[in-house]
Amino acid sequence: MSTTEVAKPVLPVLEDYAPIVGEPEILELRELARRLAGRRVKMVNSTAVGGGVAEILNRLVPLMEEVKVPTHWEVITGGEKFYNVTKAFHNALHGAPYDAAPDGLETFLATNEENRRRMHFEEDFVVIHDPQPVGLIAERDPASRQHWIWRCHIDLSNPNPQVWNFLKPWVERYDASLFSSPQFTRGLRIPQYLFYPTIDPLADKNRDVDDEFVRSVLEQFQVDPARPILTQISRFDRLKDPLGVIRAYRLVKKYEDCQLVLAGGSATDDPEGAAVLAEVEAAAAGDPDIHILNLPPWSHVEINALQRGSTIVIQKSLKEGFGLTVSEALWKKKPVVASAVGGIPSQVIHKLTGMLVHSPEGTAYQIRFLLANPAFAKVLGENGHQHVKEHFLLTHNLKRYLVLFLILLQGD
Ligand code: UDP
Repeated sequence: MSTTEVAKPVLPVLEDYAPIVGEPEILELRELARRLAGRRVKMVNSTAVGGGVAEILNRLVPLMEEVKVPTHWEVITGGEKFYNVTKAFHNALHGAPYDAAPDGLETFLATNEENRRRMHFEEDFVVIHDPQPVGLIAERDPASRQHWIWRCHIDLSNPNPQVWNFLKPWVERYDASLFSSPQFTRGLRIPQYLFYPTIDPLADKNRDVDDEFVRSVLEQFQVDPARPILTQISRFDRLKDPLGVIRAYRLVKKYEDCQLVLAGGSATDDPEGAAVLAEVEAAAAGDPDIHILNLPPWSHVEINALQRGSTIVIQKSLKEGFGLTVSEALWKKKPVVASAVGGIPSQVIHKLTGMLVHSPEGTAYQIRFLLANPAFAKVLGENGHQHVKEHFLLTHNLKRYLVLFLILLQGD
């Protein structure tokens, strides 16, 4: 079977989730949505492809539409200078020093202002994702009944004060803020809600595919299905620590004849991808068992197959928002070895739904342990699947948004 033989299914509808989450859950979602009849939503973020936010919105928006809560997703535009600044913001909010051009804040504000003038905000609820478009709140008409919500996908537990002090007054102009983990919240004058990111079990990235297709994808990338396969799927970003993954693999490789797959791509709002990819390629040079795959953004079914074909999935991030790739792997019942950072400990409960680690050496240790104990690794995967089913599926996200909108309306 060739890779092209897996037909793309028609877009799933809400009812298709009933066999997974149960019919009562679907009825509840329809009932919540019915109470919002006539209300409209806008979602705004900074990239249509690459990264977890686009991944979520791609699936959430059609379902909101289906339950008749019309939702319009718009992406802000900006030049290279703007994305350099927002990437510096991103790194700084994760605790790194702020490193951008001296006029970075002016660039940030000017691009937000340009987008504000270009866009129209007529919806009842406006959800702004992450810091890049945070300044759009300036468009809010104080006389209107509009609700503005800031959805933060970043770990704000230890932000660089310079950047956070700049952003905070903007954030506090919103009606509510949404965070991916209780640890990420800050002291804010606006309400904060816990919103776990979620995966879509029926998307090409996660739906069931047959073993033959998995084998064909491994073959396509010259990965040997007969030897253990360790995989990390991530944008080529230093915070995903691809070099640390290579280090861990090399420690394992001394004892086990394994292979490493580092599969990633880049996001249109991440200017550092090419440089990091070059660093990774240099570090892996000369080892035919390290497969560095720079995948185009539409490679969902290939990523699905790579995750399914893996013996162990790694997510050795140094900092992480949530780490959707972890839920993706757990959903596929894979044993996961992942860093105890950001939202990962919500997904990986140590020794129950996966193994948490703190260093390349710890990663190597846990990989070796799981390779030596496949029965235990299998149980981790089964538990992980159940954990994702209970907390991290798309229908949960839909429900949280619907309930939030109803709560905000009650306050009117
Ligand atoms: N992803 C992808 N192609 C790639 C790398 C990642 O489609 O080359 C997907 C990955 O499967 C996941 C998302 O992008 O769905 C990454 O989300 P995560 O929360 O793990 O990290 P982020 O990139 O948002 O920091």
